[in-house]
Amino acid sequence: MSKTPTPSPVDCDALVIGAGFAGLYAIHKLRESNFSVTAIESGGDVGGTWYWNRYPGARCDVESISYSYTFDPELVENWRWSERFASQPEILEYARWVADELDLRRSITFNTRVDKAEYDETSSTWLVHTSDGLQTRARFLISAVGCLSAESIPQFPGLQTYSGEVYHTGRWPHHDVNLTGKRVAVIGTGSSGIQAIPEIAKQAAHLTVFQRTPNYSLPARNRPLYADEHADAVKNLGKRRDRARSCPTGIGIGFGLNEALSLNDMDRRDTFDRYWHTGGNLFVTAFSDLATNLTANHEAAEYVREKIATIVDDPKTAQILTPVDYPIGAKRICVDTDYYSTFNSPHVDLVDLREDPLETITDVGIKTEHNEFDFDVIVFATGYDGMTGPLTRMDLRGRGGLALADKWSNGPTNYLGVALAEFPNMFTITGPGSPSVLANVIASIEQHVEWIVECMVYMRRNSFHEIETSARSEQSWVEHVNAIAERTLYVHAKSWYLGDNIEGKTRVFMPYAGGLNNYREKCAEIATANYEGFSFAGDKKSARSTTATTLASS
Ligand code: NAP
Repeated sequence: MSKTPTPSPVDCDALVIGAGFAGLYAIHKLRESNFSVTAIESGGDVGGTWYWNRYPGARCDVESISYSYTFDPELVENWRWSERFASQPEILEYARWVADELDLRRSITFNTRVDKAEYDETSSTWLVHTSDGLQTRARFLISAVGCLSAESIPQFPGLQTYSGEVYHTGRWPHHDVNLTGKRVAVIGTGSSGIQAIPEIAKQAAHLTVFQRTPNYSLPARNRPLYADEHADAVKNLGKRRDRARSCPTGIGIGFGLNEALSLNDMDRRDTFDRYWHTGGNLFVTAFSDLATNLTANHEAAEYVREKIATIVDDPKTAQILTPVDYPIGAKRICVDTDYYSTFNSPHVDLVDLREDPLETITDVGIKTEHNEFDFDVIVFATGYDGMTGPLTRMDLRGRGGLALADKWSNGPTNYLGVALAEFPNMFTITGPGSPSVLANVIASIEQHVEWIVECMVYMRRNSFHEIETSARSEQSWVEHVNAIAERTLYVHAKSWYLGDNIEGKTRVFMPYAGGLNNYREKCAEIATANYEGFSFAGDKKSARSTTATTLASS
């Protein structure tokens, strides 16, 4: 690839931002379809979220067999997961292995950030400015930045004065962090905190957990992955893929057939028991209506509340750990190993920030309204500016210099979660408006990458050099996404799905909650209808300009 300060022809057909699971597959698929591609990755290696999230206990809550690419049978056959739920080091190793197997590294520039990308309307290309001072011109800009890569540390007063060690779970150092014998604070009890807390407790002399909102957490019941499970996954890849594609979650397992209240108390409890003992987050799919019916959901929530009360010895601690004011599954459900029982250890304390709010970080620790604490280490498990943050933190500029951050100041308008009006020739893999985090994200990624590359092939075949969606298509899609979200219980909790965790962020439900299967069908229909809702420009002068007027009603 040639790089000059002001290049005029394109340096590559597509510039991919990020070399996590989305970026890796995008590079492969683009090359396979004879597009030239370069990828820019801020980390020192591939892996994305699994490169950065090295906190103790980091592990995937989707089973490893499902959290794997399915596009290449050889990859499925030749990689052998060791556990039912893979740990971060093993997932990172998998990403590295895939990059080597498919020879992807030669297309990736590591340790480099995209600072700015601007659309050049005269040449229908993107000019991308990177932190190494170089510029690259590409016909297409493909964002593969993930949904949860923009870490967030709330601006607590006094934060800069603290003299101890500070870590964020999503930016855990690459060197060993020795917590042995130290007084450690963890702020935050989402998926990251809930995984890290039991592991940190094993090392620390004293651990204090600062909790604002209790979460529902389910036991993972992790175990080795058996040889016959691997053999079965290889042998039945086609069937597994078909099942995954025809279900909302992208893992081949849908919601239970029965409504929760159609069973008597004993049978309902038996069902919950079965899911609880099997482990993992499928508990929330035990009945058909747990995600949509508050009364049904209450039964599941009560079941978990009872479990917390039986696991945690101290009733006051159990009460603080028990979520009562939102439905189970409305925030992202957590999956843990020994989370609740960790609070039975004498050296682990819990501070309820609702009763005793955090006032300031001091030079030696944390001051709440009623207490002062000294710590050697503060761990922020405070989450991410989800879905939009990874995109708005780059200076992306569409037509007329329009900044993405301005376009999205009232929420992430988009079409299909994959394209934006005023941002031609740009695609967002697992962008806001797509199923992404509400389904198996690997399945979401595969679907998006394949759809995007097929669209680019279609453009090449028709000699189109520009694709863009319209404000009308965006409006229609966003209304559809909102209408579906309103039918679910997701809108009954404060969560990063809605941007509640980021001060000043507009409250909008961002992912598409209609299921990956329905979404896949919708995307396929749109492609078949010559990309309804998009317009094209190119040599054939036959650019279509249609709108997605049918979406809201379908
Ligand atoms: P999160 O779910 O957003 O949790 C952040 C935690 O920090 C919450 O407990 C939040 O409390 C707390 N917090 C934020 N701001 C605070 C403040 N100003 N004062 C006090 N507490 C504050 O973030 P996460 O745990 O990193 O997880 C994010 C997502 O990443 C997950 O939902 C999941 O999708 C993904 N993830 C997956 C895995 C896995 O596969 N196992 C592991 C980790 C993460 P409030 O709830 O009150 O806001």
